[in-house]
Amino acid sequence: MKYNKIKVVFFTFFLFLFFVSSAFGSVNLAYPKKVGLGEAFLVRLTSDKPLESVSVEWKGKTVKPEIREWKERYVALAMFGTDVLFDKTGKDRLVIKYVSDGKNRSLGRTIKVAKKKYKIQRLTLPENMVTPPQEVYDKISRDREEVKAAKASMSDQRKWFLPFQRPTKGSQSSPYGAQRILNGKPKNPHRGLDFRGSKGTAVKAMADGKVVLVGDHYYAGNCVYLDHGNGVVTMYFHLSRIDVKEGEIVDRGQVIGGIGATGRVTGPHLHMSVSVQGRLVDPAYVLYKTTDQLLGIK
Ligand SMILES: [Zn+2]
Repeated sequence: MKYNKIKVVFFTFFLFLFFVSSAFGSVNLAYPKKVGLGEAFLVRLTSDKPLESVSVEWKGKTVKPEIREWKERYVALAMFGTDVLFDKTGKDRLVIKYVSDGKNRSLGRTIKVAKKKYKIQRLTLPENMVTPPQEVYDKISRDREEVKAAKASMSDQRKWFLPFQRPTKGSQSSPYGAQRILNGKPKNPHRGLDFRGSKGTAVKAMADGKVVLVGDHYYAGNCVYLDHGNGVVTMYFHLSRIDVKEGEIVDRGQVIGGIGATGRVTGPHLHMSVSVQGRLVDPAYVLYKTTDQLLGIK
């Protein structure tokens, strides 16, 4: 008798679960529960009912990812990340709001940003390369304003997919996050990847995009910034020549310039950075990882 009662309770419970899940449709949320400081990651909302709008908020930034139909399902993919220089470790709330069937819904989750060990690089450079001369300070602050505007680019269409195209054929030299000690003084960590290459070697766009800035900056030299949509911007520094113009639409793999030694450098190489929602993340995560890896699906 008692045993039958338990069975009835279980049956009712599963019937209840079935009704709840069918009433809401099947919605799946994928995201990593833990990421390292400086890493990029993805958040993906999948639904078998049409998604009318989606917004994803994390660390004070809101993305409205493009919604795509794929195999009769609706998918929204957003990229986020942390900056080794400006962000802190700890737990942060991820908030997903979406409209489906004319109803507003919301999901809340937590992502932990964990401490990560980075290399220490000691370099000795001529003193005028470590501390810029007073007369270039105005130039540096004008450069910063241009960079800020370019990094804030947020076009609606997502033109990127993982992994990104390698920007040049040469091997990688300096990694992201390396703590630099120049002439014995601690400086900001390296917030990009460096690639070896002789002057003039082709530099390619890492994804389809739009040229949002062509600059001649004190530190970066001749530089190109590409907007790939949904808050993802890539940048290419120290170029010897630039083959594109501001406003131009570029294809993944298209040559945008040549490796050079312009700006504050000791020799020709490509410095490349990736900005995600305004934060400079480790480019290795978009270059060498898959979508599943950045969603935390092993
Ligand atoms: Zn660099």
